[in-house]
Amino acid sequence: MYLPNEIQKLAALMDLTIDTPPAVEINSKSAPRSIIGQLVRQGFIPSHRDTPDNLKWLVEGEGDCNPEPTIHIIDLLGCYRPHEDKVIVYELLVHLCALKMGVDESILHRIVLLHEIAHAVTHRGREPDGSIWDLFAAAEEEKKEYFAQIYTYKQLEREGETAAITAMDALADQQPNLYQTYRSTTAQDVADINASLLEARRQVSTGCEAYSQAISTPWRFQFSNLQRYHEPFVGYILMRAGAKMPEGKLVTSGTEIEIDAKRIKVRSYDYSPAGNTLPPQGISSIFQTLTDSNSVLHSYNFPDPAGPHFLVQLRDGTYNVSMRTPEILDIWRKIVDIVGESYPALARVFHAYEP
Ligand SMILES: [Zn+2]
Repeated sequence: MYLPNEIQKLAALMDLTIDTPPAVEINSKSAPRSIIGQLVRQGFIPSHRDTPDNLKWLVEGEGDCNPEPTIHIIDLLGCYRPHEDKVIVYELLVHLCALKMGVDESILHRIVLLHEIAHAVTHRGREPDGSIWDLFAAAEEEKKEYFAQIYTYKQLEREGETAAITAMDALADQQPNLYQTYRSTTAQDVADINASLLEARRQVSTGCEAYSQAISTPWRFQFSNLQRYHEPFVGYILMRAGAKMPEGKLVTSGTEIEIDAKRIKVRSYDYSPAGNTLPPQGISSIFQTLTDSNSVLHSYNFPDPAGPHFLVQLRDGTYNVSMRTPEILDIWRKIVDIVGESYPALARVFHAYEP
């Protein structure tokens, strides 16, 4: 099959090795509604009115979402999902897009496929010492897109696909700057590009200094004040002997939160979760805060603290700490403020729980 072949070719180009290739899914049946909406709005696929009849069902409704301004056509027609180690190409959208833009469908398909596989290989490809791009999630989008584009270009160049290169450049003209930066280095030797990839892999973005440790160390932050109970029954009622008293009004309140290196999980009666991830900067700072507070957590650890409290697991230690202790409340506030940078409404809810 030619797909694993594409992966190996790109790995060879980058001078890296791939032991387990990413899964590649060519989806020829559907595409997420949100992506269709963005492509229609950006003018890359026809709207429902102009779509061929046999594909009208696909763009029907045309989706609704807030377009992420930096994500553009190539990463909409396909995507790389780092956590799943998976590449997807939405074939029907490629078809519609090629139709609207007047480009060759198989060329567009190939550009999208190479671009997404290049993301996967720049991330997972192994250097001779075995290392991969650990900080991929925390790396700047500009860098990730630059490498995905330049390696797509270099691979097409290596295979002498001039028509595809022309199409790629024309497509880049219609995209935000981060998809165009490759154009200034197309004349560079692959060896030099590979050297800059290795350098980028070692770079730590601002605010992510502890990220690499945060993803390789066991830790967890947990808080809950979820309440669900029946108020005592008030009123008069005629009861048969031995019957149970009816229950009062059901009261539900509070929020439960659990944060670890992978996600933030929220269950709440006071707030509607808006997402389940924190940016690498957030993960990095929470981990750093907990690490810096290790001795305070250790000295105020009680098995079953009364009143509002939270739990921290850090390396081998598990700490149950009361928020009535000022030093502990300080730690709590720092963490809530970090969470608040991504979810301000959630932070307001948590600040209201402070004793
Ligand atoms: Zn991309």
